[in-house]
Amino acid sequence: MSTFTIHTLGCGSAKPSPKHQPSSLVINHRENLFMVDCGEGAQLAFMRQRLKFSRLRHIFLTHLHGDHVFGLPGLIGTLALQGNGGHVTIHTFEEGKRILTDIFNFFCREIPFEINFNVIEPGEAVIYESNSLTVRTIPLRHRVPDVGFVFEEKGKLRHIDRKMTDFHGVPTFMLNRIKAGEDFIKPDGTVVPNRMLTTAPTPPLRYAHISDTMYMPELAGKIGPVDLLFHETTYLEEHKSMAAPRGHSTARQAAMVARDAGAKRLLTGHYSSRYDDFTLFKREAEEIFPHVILNNEGLSVPLD
Ligand SMILES: [Zn+2]
Repeated sequence: MSTFTIHTLGCGSAKPSPKHQPSSLVINHRENLFMVDCGEGAQLAFMRQRLKFSRLRHIFLTHLHGDHVFGLPGLIGTLALQGNGGHVTIHTFEEGKRILTDIFNFFCREIPFEINFNVIEPGEAVIYESNSLTVRTIPLRHRVPDVGFVFEEKGKLRHIDRKMTDFHGVPTFMLNRIKAGEDFIKPDGTVVPNRMLTTAPTPPLRYAHISDTMYMPELAGKIGPVDLLFHETTYLEEHKSMAAPRGHSTARQAAMVARDAGAKRLLTGHYSSRYDDFTLFKREAEEIFPHVILNNEGLSVPLD
């Protein structure tokens, strides 16, 4: 059972089309759900994936374009109807807070839970932190202020080698401290070094979400070696001349960022509705970077 899974709700772009839904994605980290963007129809796609509204506590908005936001009033209205028993935090720019507050005040008046806003800036910052996860922003280049998000697990505890802790008589109440890296001191003063009692921790998992942006070569260094990189692939190279002026990237450019960041895998998406054969995105990206996952609605990708 994965502890870190990415669920795609929508991987189309701004112009509506029956081929794909507008942008939205959910990260399930240890049964806590984090939504990134909430395009129209996101709540229905959420239900189709059998995700639980009661587990959704954080919504992160990359930018304030309709194809990333129009699903939010509907989703919040549904959470209100369901009596979602907890708060929801929306991470967005000051302008987003102002606009969404007006919309919620009008359409979702009797919300039986708290909606908090975490006002973020279009720069580099850690904007969320829990015991096990941090989320940081990276500024992107689009037609409006826009950020990418990197979800990073914190360093994990070491694994206890049960045979060795039993052999050295480590009491149960000490095990958490041993997992955290302490040596064990026996009653006679002998020190048993931690490396004899434990094995290396499972490496922390990382996911980066980059949408929407024109190609930025410097992005790779800011993202770093993630386990999975979603990078928008609005266009194919044949329409490259449209990409930069509209603040978007091609599949080839996304693959260059994945390669240069040292990502393990690239997830495509935010496809322009002008295309019919979406396998071309995978093929084009694979010429640069071999580990490409072709995105589609309903797809789930476990990171571990
Ligand atoms: Zn978009």
